Amino acid sequence: MNQPVDTFDPLFLGQNEGFSQYQTMMNQSIETLLNHASRQTYSGKSRHDVHQDINRSMDFSTNASWQDVLDETFNNVLNHTINVSHPKCVAHLHCPPLIPALAAEVLISALNQSMDSWDQSGAATNLEVSMIQWLCHQFGYDQQPDGAFTSGGTQSNYTGLLLARNLYVQSHFGINGHEEGLPYEAHTLRILCSEHAHFTIKQAAAQLGLGENAVIPIPTDDANRMDIGEALNTLQYLRQNNLNPFAIVATAGTTDFGSIDPLQDLHDMAQAYDIWLHVDAAYGGGVMLSDQYNDVLTGIEQADSIAVDFHKWFYQPISCGAFLLRDRHLFKYMKHHAEYLNPEEDELDGILNLAGKSTQTTRRFDALKLFMTLKFIGTEKLTDMIETTISTARQTAELIDNDSNLELAHFPELNAVVFRFMPNEMDHINMINRQIQQLLLIQGQAVIAKTKIRGDTYLKLTLLNPMTSLSDIQDILSDIIAEGQAQSIHINQEVVG
Ligand SMILES: *Cc1c(COP(=O)(O)O)cnc(C)c1O
Repeated sequence: MNQPVDTFDPLFLGQNEGFSQYQTMMNQSIETLLNHASRQTYSGKSRHDVHQDINRSMDFSTNASWQDVLDETFNNVLNHTINVSHPKCVAHLHCPPLIPALAAEVLISALNQSMDSWDQSGAATNLEVSMIQWLCHQFGYDQQPDGAFTSGGTQSNYTGLLLARNLYVQSHFGINGHEEGLPYEAHTLRILCSEHAHFTIKQAAAQLGLGENAVIPIPTDDANRMDIGEALNTLQYLRQNNLNPFAIVATAGTTDFGSIDPLQDLHDMAQAYDIWLHVDAAYGGGVMLSDQYNDVLTGIEQADSIAVDFHKWFYQPISCGAFLLRDRHLFKYMKHHAEYLNPEEDELDGILNLAGKSTQTTRRFDALKLFMTLKFIGTEKLTDMIETTISTARQTAELIDNDSNLELAHFPELNAVVFRFMPNEMDHINMINRQIQQLLLIQGQAVIAKTKIRGDTYLKLTLLNPMTSLSDIQDILSDIIAEGQAQSIHINQEVVG
């Protein structure tokens, strides 16, 4: 016969001694984390050994003390993860998390609220709603906006395109997409975005039953922004050929270059053609807080919907993003009333159930960490961090531009810098640049990214961390040049030998 659970060691907060057990285990976990503090960007352990050691620890037949679990996990896993708080971890749009946000995560996980209905979240729902209203205000939405926290840009972009599609098939084909699915004309639906738009736009089109080929990539200008003339020609061409463009996706901060599409012009075009404008500001949304730089986002306040990520330039731990909607009534195009979660009579009684605003059901109380972060540091300090990284990126671009061993690919609009090492012999340039990125990672010198421009390999620094100094950058650039030169010699010897 099974024992009543409370005769075991406390494993739930609701048990006697639950809280003291929680405190002990949390303290031990934090102690373990402190061992990370002095870590390099990466430990240097080979991918093969990582795989082997983890597989060896997949045995759950006995239990162990929390300290033993921590030690084993540290040795096999935690110590060989990427140190995102290191100032030389500058690869992706992947931020060092702020300490107040980490403290808030402790509360989020322990309280374990779920945002789909008020009876699973109470005041948590009200806080999310208020945070969304605050965010809408920051982005210049002032009519009756709405939105929801999301798992990130992927979900926010999907949500925007889902609403755009359903609105369009309702108004043009009289089909309720939510209930009836796609109209016969679905194969004529098209989405326009820049050739540098995030891949999740194509992914969303595929998931919406339109196929990736429904997305028309528009060429970009010298500054990697969507070319307005090309966009207009494409729209005219599509209409003349009885195709149905229903959404334009503008990117405010492309993943590689941080370039921002001309939002005002794209808004005017979307208006003229009566189609949805979604702005993917997953990356660039952070700039909205900066009076010094936010003119680059002028026009965003007229978009139908906006995606913004807080686990990028707002220094929140993963995951944390938001989908913002200019007109709250448009949520009806995705709403389902589940009798047990968000029945219509609750809505009539004014009970807030957020299930209808998200493609998720069970959903984390991520609004809390952004709220508590802003309370603790204030918008001014956050803005300072954001502006600091833009200025570091601009100085980095100058360093690169002035070094004959390196070639700058663009002048950074935000804080991503794309460039490459230039060997004396151009023959193996792509292979050498790829090797540089791999070597710096494995040797624990720096985590930098690589990308391709028209088939050629480039290196990328995404300078999200405001603690990354110009001297860190100088180290990284010297390491890149030293590795590049060593690789060039190595390859040429191989070719000759
Ligand atoms: C990161 C990013 C995404 C994807 O967002 P996730 O938060 O990773 O889901 C989409 N668009 C852009 C421009 C991004 O930078």
